[in-house]
Amino acid sequence: MTTTIDLTAAPAADLALADGTVVDDAIVGERGPWSGVVAAGDILTIVDLHGNQAVDTLFYGAADHAKRYSAQATIAAQGNIFLTTGTVIRDQESEPLMTIVADEVGNHDTVGGACSQESNTLRYGHHTRHQHACVENFLIEGSRHGLGKADLVGNVNFFMNVPVDPDGSLGIVDGLSAPGKRLALRAEVDTLVLISNCPQINNPCNGFDPTAVRVIVTRPVV
Ligand SMILES: [Zn+2]
Repeated sequence: MTTTIDLTAAPAADLALADGTVVDDAIVGERGPWSGVVAAGDILTIVDLHGNQAVDTLFYGAADHAKRYSAQATIAAQGNIFLTTGTVIRDQESEPLMTIVADEVGNHDTVGGACSQESNTLRYGHHTRHQHACVENFLIEGSRHGLGKADLVGNVNFFMNVPVDPDGSLGIVDGLSAPGKRLALRAEVDTLVLISNCPQINNPCNGFDPTAVRVIVTRPVV
């Protein structure tokens, strides 16, 4: 996929969905992880550089990793299964961690979970056992913060399209995202954000071609 603008090289301040001082700016390579603490009040912009790329994401209280994202609390509080502008990312006590303040896609998933070597084997056959997967990214990157497998919970899948049919059945289908689509989250408390740029190649969540994304953190000038 190609774009007319080189979003990889564009100035971070131009790509960020919020004004302010750029305090972090990273390309998350295809199939790779990223993590960072987003300070309260700062805004994290995630850019789907090439389109149709699932960004599996977990959230933890930076000061207390026992506070962690809860899909159940987040869905229950907003009364809707999809995440978009206005969604408050909540921990298991329903306390806010971050708020989605802008979204150019329209809906993001939090029921599809993360891919793993084990689930790949079950879904796609034993020949996929060797393939790198999101759980491995979470474990590698999470280990830098003292997180292990018991700390992994149900995650958010930004840019991933998981429609829920009237009978409740789920699909993982071609994405709604496109090159350059962005969303932005404001940290309500200091939040550790753990990302797996999904390596999946067996279903359409990454267009069968995982690509890089970009994360930019901006601090509002007061
Ligand atoms: Zn994945």
